[in-house]
Amino acid sequence: MKLCFNEGTTMENSTLALDLEFAEKYGYDFIEIRMRKMRAYIGERSLKELVAFFEKNRIKPYAFNTLEYVTFRDVADYKKIKEDLVFLCETGSKIGCHYTVVVPSFDVTYTRGRIKEETVSVLKDLSDVAEKYDMNLAFEFVGYPNCSVNTLEQAYEIVETVNRKNVGLVLDCFHFYAMHSRIETLKHISPDKIFIFHINDTNDFPVGALRDHHRVWPGDGVIDLDQILSTLKGIGYDRMASIEVFNQDYYELPPEKAIRVGKEKMTTVLRKHFSIPSE
Ligand code: ZN
Repeated sequence: MKLCFNEGTTMENSTLALDLEFAEKYGYDFIEIRMRKMRAYIGERSLKELVAFFEKNRIKPYAFNTLEYVTFRDVADYKKIKEDLVFLCETGSKIGCHYTVVVPSFDVTYTRGRIKEETVSVLKDLSDVAEKYDMNLAFEFVGYPNCSVNTLEQAYEIVETVNRKNVGLVLDCFHFYAMHSRIETLKHISPDKIFIFHINDTNDFPVGALRDHHRVWPGDGVIDLDQILSTLKGIGYDRMASIEVFNQDYYELPPEKAIRVGKEKMTTVLRKHFSIPSE
């Protein structure tokens, strides 16, 4: 299993330049780049410098985060989403990044059928754009009651219906746990359709109460990560695991410490089930 650092883990206390430096130093294989941090990097430095960094170093870019709230948008907002996608595709083709995380909208009161219809249609449309650049779309359900797609069951049904080679899933342990997605569902998913695996943990809250800031380091919370990891192993998934935590207390840490501790925590949990090549 390859190890990846998601920049959400240092969202408020670091920059892309620092995340790259320390993720390389601590032996991560990949980084998931937040769009805001990348725009800041390109503004202050240049895209050329980013290309040169990846040419010189072992760590490679894996995915961009995030095209947010892509469904049920008005014409102007949807145009902006497509412009952002083209920006990520063009940048991705220069630095060798071939995945973009895509998140559905919140606070829309439609039936499941209507949500499925809209989400399938939007993902197909974005997939047409992405395909020209060899970009893949990783659709991430969010385990909040007010997210239009909030369980693995619902997300997988949508991705199966889209039925495109460049559209797959993000499986995020926090979102999986938060709205009680079923492990049985995961057992029947094709490993090729899991494009990204976000690893994290959370404190013990009731269904529907969890929010991103409740995330903690893998192994420090109540999610049955062993069950998720053994199921992933059982279906033949061993592509990558990416640490993604949005904890306000961790934002107080120096970024180097957060990046080092994140690697230690994820490695401890993962190595019970997978070999970690970078060790
Ligand atoms: Zn995630």
